[in-house]
Amino acid sequence: MGDPARIARKLKAPQPMPLTIHDTLQREKRVFEPRDPGRVTLYVCGPTVYDYAHIGNARPPVVFDVLVRLLRRTYGADKVIYARNVTDVDDKINAKAAKEGVPIGEVTARYEAAYLEDMARLNVSPPDIAPHVTDHMAAIVAQIGAIMDHGCAYAAEGHVLFDVSSYETYGRLSGRNLDDMIAGARVEVAPYKKNPHDFVLWKPSKEGEPSWPSPWGEGRPGWHIECSAMIEETLGLPIDIHGGGIDLVFPHHENEIAQGVCAHGHAHEAGAHAEYSRYWMHNGFLTMDAEKMSKSLGNVLLLHDLVQSIPGEVVRWALLSAHYRQPLDWNQALLEQSRKSLDRLYGALHRAAAVESTTDAPPAEFLKAIEDDLNTPGAMAVLFSLSSEIERGMTAGDTAAVAAAKGQLVASAALLGVLQSDPAAWLEGDVPDDLRTEVEALLEQRAAARAAKDWPEADRIRDRLNALSVVVMDGPQGPTWRLKG
Ligand code: AMP
Ligand code: ZN
Repeated sequence: MGDPARIARKLKAPQPMPLTIHDTLQREKRVFEPRDPGRVTLYVCGPTVYDYAHIGNARPPVVFDVLVRLLRRTYGADKVIYARNVTDVDDKINAKAAKEGVPIGEVTARYEAAYLEDMARLNVSPPDIAPHVTDHMAAIVAQIGAIMDHGCAYAAEGHVLFDVSSYETYGRLSGRNLDDMIAGARVEVAPYKKNPHDFVLWKPSKEGEPSWPSPWGEGRPGWHIECSAMIEETLGLPIDIHGGGIDLVFPHHENEIAQGVCAHGHAHEAGAHAEYSRYWMHNGFLTMDAEKMSKSLGNVLLLHDLVQSIPGEVVRWALLSAHYRQPLDWNQALLEQSRKSLDRLYGALHRAAAVESTTDAPPAEFLKAIEDDLNTPGAMAVLFSLSSEIERGMTAGDTAAVAAAKGQLVASAALLGVLQSDPAAWLEGDVPDDLRTEVEALLEQRAAARAAKDWPEADRIRDRLNALSVVVMDGPQGPTWRLKG
């Protein structure tokens, strides 16, 4: 018989909330259970490096960066292996290289470097592994061979095609039925295909295009096979989580499963898909002013351009402001609101700059939100209550409350990948060095003039600061400033 008071206390003690994620395949939220908590594996389809990424392309890496931060916190930093591939063999890459008259490697190196630079501005941590297609040709060729050996692919006219009719549960991820697909097929069918939905595993390269040797002739892989081959070679099967944008569910991920399952001869086993990836996560699409982003509409916003004029942290906040599975509309108001939100949170941290944090753990409400299928809007709401608590504590002189709330705020925000800059520097903004030097000198003169009660001099300095578009905010830690607008 236990002591009733002790039992009551135990019942009330906060239970650790398990992470739940919405699994596209099972179509429900599931408690996340890795195959091996000592080695949690995650693969996200990365960029095709033929041009700068647009702002929509930034949504998956930012969303999955938050997931990885959370997994590392739960299982240990070195227990999570995150792979994000680089597609460096592709028709669009060939076209760009031909247009510029340079080897494909020059195009792919340029845009991969730009991508990594832009990701760094968004505070996206690099993945542990970034497999490149050109480095994994042997594994790709071997996997195609294994699929053929198991009777799930055939060679025809220099191509190798996956035979979709050979895999019983083809269509399961995207909820498509092969018979309906065939009935509704309007695609022009290449004469060498047995079935209109058979997809390319290997194809011949055209004259002058890069090619690799294979038992079916010189050529290059189709798009889908790179991911299933690189997943198997770099992470091993099954992986725990596979992620990407919602547009990848069909055909890319559907085909990945078919390849990954059939390469091992499991085409007729109903549950074999679980031997490829245990969970599937897909982010919703980003629209521009409520329209689809597309080159023909001329509304494609490049991340590379955006982060030249707007702090990456504002962009990151905006990308996380909607739940990842919901559509997100990108517009000026969203950016302004995101900057205001960060200003408010940094403002609270700045006000509490002299108070030492007494914790480095996020509060239970924050974890509850973020572990609920990455509910970032809910998690952000907790950041605002913590900042209000800081403001209240500062006004009331309740230093203990401020010290706790500040530690919780910084720790929570670290999981979202925000609020890690120096608050004073944030509030000043991104300012050219010579202007910063001048403003700082003027602020010192202003302090001296005020101390000496030299009001005409103080007014002169104020006018000069105004002329420079500088807004000065006086606070208990001394003045901070920023540029207008
Ligand atoms: P891509 O370079 O086109 O293969 O796309 C890279 C990643 O960006 C994939 O995971 C896509 O699903 C994702 N993506 C592309 N466009 C958008 C968009 N408008 N909104 C959200 N994600 C997108
Ligand atoms: Zn992929």
